[in-house]
Amino acid sequence: MKNQKKLIILTGPSGVGKGTVVKELLGRDRNIWLSISATTREPREGEKAGENYYFLNEEKFKEMIEQNLFLEWAKFAGNYYGTPLSSVNEKIKNGFTVLLEIEVEGAKQIKEKFHNSLSIFLLPPDKEELEKRIRNRGTENEEAIKKRLSRADYEISVSNQFDFALINNNVDETAERIIKLIQT
Ligand code: 5GP
Repeated sequence: MKNQKKLIILTGPSGVGKGTVVKELLGRDRNIWLSISATTREPREGEKAGENYYFLNEEKFKEMIEQNLFLEWAKFAGNYYGTPLSSVNEKIKNGFTVLLEIEVEGAKQIKEKFHNSLSIFLLPPDKEELEKRIRNRGTENEEAIKKRLSRADYEISVSNQFDFALINNNVDETAERIIKLIQT
């Protein structure tokens, strides 16, 4: 499928700051459209259905898998996450740069399907800083934090499979670099 770098994949371990970078990117470039994923995870305090995620139960999520309604999906730390197909195609057709903020397995699937996509892996300055960021976020219990941290080792080990790996030291700098990559 031809998409002329109209599809941007932002990936990297939980806690690295993908969400903060995404907010910054959306503020800087009005032509970027963020895909809203579906998930079976429970909403966090303050999260809104249809805004942060489409919150589905496992039965509904599996039904959507069977009906081929996801562009990609993956299981992460015990929950399912997936990118709904329909809206992404429509937004690309309408000239938007579509941004996917997803974990590595889904990112690999997208890379295979969309050869012209741009994939960016965000790295933490170091493992200690990653743990600090996850803990300071205060959104997960200890068990979930442990699962996410152990997954992070694997994720970081495959960071070289993406087009660019950027160390996320500072949100402004990271967003600036990504905007440049999108525009070139
Ligand atoms: P969280 O539970 O912290 O919101 O997300 C956990 C992980 O799932 C993060 O790495 C996030 O980027 C990823 N994620 C969110 N939506 C999707 C999706 O649609 N597909 C995939 N593969 N990963 C997703």
